[in-house]
Amino acid sequence: MSEIATRCVQGGYTPKNGEPRQIPIIQSTTFKYDTSEDMGLLFDLKASGYFYTRLQNPTNDFVAAKICELEGGTAALLTSSGQAANFFAIFNLCSAGDHVVSSAAIYGGTYNLFAVTMKRMGIEFTFVSPDATDEELDAAFKPNTKAVFGETISNPSLDILDIERFAAAAHRHGVPLIIDNTFPTPINCRPFEWGCDIVTHSTTKYMDGHATSVGGAIIDSGKFNWDEHADIFPGLTTPDESYHGITYTKQFGQGAAYITKCVAQLMRDFGAIPSPHNSFLLNVGLESLHLRMQRHCQNAQAVAEYLDANPKVAWVNFSGLPNNKYYALAQKYMPNGTCGVVSFGLVGGRAAAERFMKELKVAIIATHVADAHSCCLHPANATHRQLSDAELEACGVKPDMIRFSVGIEDIKDILGDIENALKVV
Ligand code: PLP
Repeated sequence: MSEIATRCVQGGYTPKNGEPRQIPIIQSTTFKYDTSEDMGLLFDLKASGYFYTRLQNPTNDFVAAKICELEGGTAALLTSSGQAANFFAIFNLCSAGDHVVSSAAIYGGTYNLFAVTMKRMGIEFTFVSPDATDEELDAAFKPNTKAVFGETISNPSLDILDIERFAAAAHRHGVPLIIDNTFPTPINCRPFEWGCDIVTHSTTKYMDGHATSVGGAIIDSGKFNWDEHADIFPGLTTPDESYHGITYTKQFGQGAAYITKCVAQLMRDFGAIPSPHNSFLLNVGLESLHLRMQRHCQNAQAVAEYLDANPKVAWVNFSGLPNNKYYALAQKYMPNGTCGVVSFGLVGGRAAAERFMKELKVAIIATHVADAHSCCLHPANATHRQLSDAELEACGVKPDMIRFSVGIEDIKDILGDIENALKVV
């Protein structure tokens, strides 16, 4: 299927004669076999088939295959959340004593996972500015560096990652670039086309798109040659004693080694699988992703332009505005639009932000972004409320920042809502 809109609707699952048109929900923990020998071959990864849903499930696999097609990868895996996806994507390459270079402009939950929880596991992160020069990037690497991580569009600071430059830096040091592509989705940006090696998603956001199911995904481009860097990645290139002495690159090849290892080791041991029912809902969302993204981007552009022209608004951050710092990068990597999230501050600062948000009727206040419904959040008073103003600035969250996730309602209603709320500030 060559066109992405067709892949959104039909990818990942092709019913045979007489089979259901929609992906079936295989809500079963386990699968029946006639003999123990049949089962043994599955456990040894010598035959493919299902035996226990913690490891694999047909509904989950159909939906993973669709997301794999959308990103243009060779193998993919669904997880129970975006947090699990980012943890697995990195932990599949690292052990205690290893090091990762990460953009500092990332979702706060991911930052905490890296800087606090994974640090406790003995994995060290060096955070670099997404605007770091090549020299600054090179200086962040260490002999034990295993990966580079960033977000295509960072949440909530909305910085755009220069994917080609980050990929080149990672490859100069023999490691893959992992990108969280949650905000643009593969409709607006496919990082593999720019040199990225592994993509992750919080499918909770635009992919599900209707605020129904928390989920995540990891997709491998199949382009990173693990064997060429066998000394850096022994977990993929030498026998896994915890899995019958399998060498993943030898048995599954460059295209499937990374995801197979992730399933065989991390799903087996941590068990962060989505329920088949959630994967079914995710797929229903994916079927209209191409249409929804278009509308999110159109509406967000209109909101950003409206705010930018309003004297009560102190600043607007949206890379679709020509005056934005990241306009050129956005045009390069996402010429058809970036995402539906706009952030801004009011002339009246923090207090005005609260008054403004209270007045909104169409856009609800919610700790969420990127679904069909417009919503907004004042991070300094919600997700980041434990931080001082100085700490907020350091992580790219201005104290007066309103994060506005523009939905797919009629733009007249969204702009009318904003216009009305601005009257009280
Ligand atoms: N990555 C990004 C860019 C996010 O915005 C989020 C959540 O907001 C996550 C990852 C974590 O995903 P989840 O909430 O599905 O665990």
